[in-house]
Amino acid sequence: MAKYKLEYIWLDGYQPVRNMRSKTQIKDYASFPKLEELPDWGFDGSSTQQAPGGSSDCVLKPVAVYPDSTRKNGVLVMCEVYSADGTPHSSNDRATILDDPDAWFGFEQEYFFFQDGRPLGFPENGYPAPQGPYYTGVGYKNVGDVARQIVEEHLEICLDAGINHEGINAEVAKGQWEFQIFGKGSKVCADQMWVARYILNRLCEKYAIDVEYHCKPLGATDWNGSGMHANFSTKHLREVGGEAYFLALMAQFEKNCMEHIAVYGPDNHLRLTGLHETQSIDKFSWGIADRGASVRVPHSFKKNDWKGYLEDRRPNSQGDPYQIASRILKTISEVAI
Ligand code: ADP
Ligand code: MN
Ligand code: MN
Ligand code: MN
Repeated sequence: MAKYKLEYIWLDGYQPVRNMRSKTQIKDYASFPKLEELPDWGFDGSSTQQAPGGSSDCVLKPVAVYPDSTRKNGVLVMCEVYSADGTPHSSNDRATILDDPDAWFGFEQEYFFFQDGRPLGFPENGYPAPQGPYYTGVGYKNVGDVARQIVEEHLEICLDAGINHEGINAEVAKGQWEFQIFGKGSKVCADQMWVARYILNRLCEKYAIDVEYHCKPLGATDWNGSGMHANFSTKHLREVGGEAYFLALMAQFEKNCMEHIAVYGPDNHLRLTGLHETQSIDKFSWGIADRGASVRVPHSFKKNDWKGYLEDRRPNSQGDPYQIASRILKTISEVAI
């Protein structure tokens, strides 16, 4: 038997953006615990906007488990929140989302490192040199001295955890970075995204740096905002596709434009302005290799007889991947195949 450190992670009741919360319990296991070996646990919901003080107990139900290489015998346990009566808590979006193991998602999480209330590498007053050299840039003057160390450590911890972290790049604004997570099924992919965010936030503590997920932290300036592009494909899109189906799908996306925007992250009107590689928030468009469209169609998709994956560029960096993936699946389900 060994003592395992189980870090139970959940999303709280704050709106419009849920915060991640976590706490540790120690349990004995003969080997790395399986999901079904992890007990339910409780927490004080009155401290997380999930319950009134008089009746504060909420239940944590483990739904996914990952090794935590930052700790000896460490375990990251993603949880859903339930009420004491056994029903999913109203903050528990994961419990009710659409899922399909044949629907594949690739989320591109953009974010800023922040220190002392400004992006990492910004001078105390004013701005650094304008955007241009930072995207995929190299060298101290472009990326500073610590950001790359953090993103590399983040990558290692995610890979150790079995998270399908697919890549990293320095982004367009100074202090802005991206990583990509790919998963099969909306829950599998979105769980991994939330845990990857958790790992990043926790890692940054020791650097006295915060992760700023807001979609437009520098406001209406010439600095890019942050998105979380949602790349998606279903079995039908990958194997059958066709121009007629694609056009019908895009028509349905257009019809549901505002329903999508509603779950694509707060303050998105500040980001989806029609500038900085975005489409305006109230317009829907698609385009081949067009980074100013709502949905970008990769060249390969058209060349391959309208088969493959599509990129919805509208979700933002603070969006909830559970709800984003589910909304995409809902619109897809409304189009006959
Ligand atoms: P870009 O920055 O050019 O938009 P990225 O390489 O950052 O592209 O992201 C592309 C994403 O598309 C990756 O996360 C990848 O996992 C995802 N992806 C690739 N193929 C598929 C597919 N068939 N279904 C869903 N997502 C996919
Ligand atoms: Mn990208
Ligand atoms: Mn990007
Ligand atoms: Mn993209």
